[in-house]
Amino acid sequence: MIIDFHTHTFPNKIAARTIAYLTEKGGIQPYREGTLSSLTDNMQRSGIDYSVVLPVVTAPKQEKTINRVSAENNGKNHVFFAGGIHPDSEDVEGTLDTIKASGLFGIKLHPDYQGVHFDDPRCVRIMREALRRGLYIITHAGYDVAYRDHVHCTPDMVLHVLDELKGEIENKLILAHLGGYDMPDEVLQKLVGKPVYMDTAAVLRLYPEKCREIILRHGADKILFASDSPWDSQSEYVQFIKRFQLGKEAEEKIFCRNAEKILGVKLG
Ligand SMILES: [Zn+2]
Repeated sequence: MIIDFHTHTFPNKIAARTIAYLTEKGGIQPYREGTLSSLTDNMQRSGIDYSVVLPVVTAPKQEKTINRVSAENNGKNHVFFAGGIHPDSEDVEGTLDTIKASGLFGIKLHPDYQGVHFDDPRCVRIMREALRRGLYIITHAGYDVAYRDHVHCTPDMVLHVLDELKGEIENKLILAHLGGYDMPDEVLQKLVGKPVYMDTAAVLRLYPEKCREIILRHGADKILFASDSPWDSQSEYVQFIKRFQLGKEAEEKIFCRNAEKILGVKLG
């Protein structure tokens, strides 16, 4: 069984426009159209059993709609959803209560698209409140293709947050892009072995050898298979992991067991 822990979809009405905008801004090419139906079609073709969609709230006024749509679709058609919250949310506690009550497993933060540093007091407060409610936290980490000149979630910021939320955040934080997009050396130096999960989204094609090293040193118990679809290929990402020859047990943890634990479900 294979669970892709990091994918994106956009509402049908704005998918084409959003994909075109992000393609232009980031200088990247999508692998599919970016709608929910294109994700599920692609999963079938790629041998992916379940996907997790991580919505990005880029303005506080989007929170309600995004979380409602996530809740409505969560668990249907083999797709799970995270909730979203903005650092400038007008109602942090209420938004997190709603996310928890609707059965979503966690929240996604994207410091680049939210104009904030990961260790900003607003983010720390949100994370503290999310953890109190038993929610997981997923964050973009490292460079973002659209914001090359400034990293909003560096390994040092992650260390700072781990320190600020010591005793609460252990094994509840998921760092996308194996701890830091395009920063594998710093991840190896500062983050491997820390009590965080890392997902494999968007980096396996860039520097596969370094990725393998991060996975081996961080340990299969804390790695989640992820593609970042539509920004990379689900089927090729499965092959990248298989090529690493990590062994059957490690592969099973990375492909599904760790994700099941976080989602709180037994899928197969
Ligand atoms: Zn992503």
